[in-house]
Amino acid sequence: MDTIAAISTAMGEAGIGIVRMSGKESLSIASSVFKGKTIENLKEAVNRRLTYGQIYDPEDETVVDEVLIVYMKKPQTYTREDIVEIYCHGGVIAVKKILEILLKNGARLAEPGEFTKRAFLNGRLDLSQAEAVIDLIKAKTDKSYSVSLNQLEGSLSIKVNEIRNILLNMLAHIEVSIDFPEEDVEEVTYDELLKDSQKVLEEIDKLLSTAERGKILREGLNTVILGKPNVGKSSLLNAILRENRAIVTDIPGTTRDIIEEYVNIEGIPLKIIDTAGIRDTEDLVEKLGVDRAKNVVEKADLIIAVFDASRSLTKEDEDIINIVKEKRSIVLLNKTDLPNEYDVEELSNYIPDKKIISTSIANGEGIEELEKTIVDMFYSGEVELSGEAIVTNMRHTDMLNRARKNIIDVISGIEMNVPLDCIEVDVKNCWNYLGEISGETVSEDILDKIFSEFCIGK
Ligand code: GDP
Ligand code: ZN
Repeated sequence: MDTIAAISTAMGEAGIGIVRMSGKESLSIASSVFKGKTIENLKEAVNRRLTYGQIYDPEDETVVDEVLIVYMKKPQTYTREDIVEIYCHGGVIAVKKILEILLKNGARLAEPGEFTKRAFLNGRLDLSQAEAVIDLIKAKTDKSYSVSLNQLEGSLSIKVNEIRNILLNMLAHIEVSIDFPEEDVEEVTYDELLKDSQKVLEEIDKLLSTAERGKILREGLNTVILGKPNVGKSSLLNAILRENRAIVTDIPGTTRDIIEEYVNIEGIPLKIIDTAGIRDTEDLVEKLGVDRAKNVVEKADLIIAVFDASRSLTKEDEDIINIVKEKRSIVLLNKTDLPNEYDVEELSNYIPDKKIISTSIANGEGIEELEKTIVDMFYSGEVELSGEAIVTNMRHTDMLNRARKNIIDVISGIEMNVPLDCIEVDVKNCWNYLGEISGETVSEDILDKIFSEFCIGK
C-alpha cells in the first residue's frame, strides 16, 4: 500500500495543526523534508518521541515551518503502519504547505477516512468500531458520545460475535448430523437447533429494540413545531434555545429555507426543524408550500403542536389536529395567561390519547414540563443506556433485520421438520448478515461507501 498524507486537524485559526502520514515510506519521506535541531536525520529519531526541527522544501531549501515531529513505528499505531505526525503552526497556510511538500516527495493525498480504513483492513478495528469513530467525531451530546465510545470499545461487536458463535455451533451440529445421519442424533439436533435459534432471535430482537433510541442519539430527534400563525412557535423555539445549550455542528443544516437547530435536552439531541418561516412569523405551509411542509412533517420523529387558548379553534387548527393524531406528538395549549376561549378538556376531546400541556410560553411556563415529557418519551420506561450495546447505525439495523428474517425461517423450518441441509442455508445466511456488521463478510463497495462518510485526515 502506498503512503498517504492528510491534514488531520480542523482548518481555521488555531494554535497548532497536525499533518499525518501513514505507510511504508512515511519515515523516509519525512526525513527528506525535515532538518532537526538536535539530530541530523529523522531516521535517528527515537520511536514515539517528539523531535524539534524545521520542515523545508528540498527543491529550493526554503523553510516552511518550525515543527515538532514524531515517528511511530508499526505495528503499534492507529493504522498498524508506520506513521509520522507533524505538529506545526495552526491556521490554513502552514498545514497546507507542509501537506504539499509531503505530496511532492512521494506521499499521496489520503481519501476521506482512509487512515481508519487501513486500521480496519489491518485488523486494528472491526467495521462497527471503525464506524464508531465517525460517530464519535460527529457526536452531538455527551450521551451520543458515550454510546459511540462503547461501540468503539467493542460493545456491539462483542454482542454480535456472541450471537454468531451460537450460529457457528448450530452449523457444526448440522454438519455432524448430515455426516452421521442416525435417527437419534437427528432428533437431538432438531431440539437443540430450536433452542439455539430461539436464543438467537431473542438476542437479535434485544439489539433491534435499541435501534430507535440509537438512531435518535446519532442523528437527533427530528422535531417539528407546528401551529397557525401567532400561536407562539417562535417564542417556543427561542425559549428552548435559550434554556438548552445549542449544539454546534459542522454539518451546515441549512438547505435554502429550512434551518436545523440542534439542542441538547438532557443528553438527547433534539433536532428542531425550524423553517425560516417559523422565525419570521410566517407558518410552515405558507413558507414551503403544502407538499414540502407535508414532507417535513412526514419525516418528523416528534411533532410539537401549539394552539392558542385565547382564540377559538379554526380550520387551520383542525388540520394540525389531524396531523397530531397520526404522529408521535406533544400538544401545547399556549397563552393560558390570557382569558381563555377554550381549555385543555375541550382540546383533549379531539385528541384524547395525546399529552396536552398548558403553557404560557411568554412567561416561561410549561417549557420545563415539555422537556420532561420529551425525555420520558425517549426512555419510555426502558433502562438507562449505559454499557449495553446500542444499535445506532442504519446499516446495522438493516443487517439485523435480515438476519432476523433468516433465523425465523430456521425456526419454522425446524418446526416443519424440513431437511437439515435446507435449514443450514438459512443459518449460514443469518451468520453472514451478522458478519457484515463487524465487517467480516462485507463487500468492497460497502466499505468504500462507509469510509467516504469520514472527514479527510481521519
Ligand atoms: P408564531 O407566529 O407562532 O411564531 O408566534 P410568536 O412566537 O411570534 O408569538 C406571537 C405573539 O404572541 C407574540 O407577540 C408573543 O409575544 C405572543 N405570545 C407568545 N406566547 C405567549 C403567551 O404564552 N402568552 C401571551 N400573552 N402572549 C404570548
Ligand atoms: Zn413565528
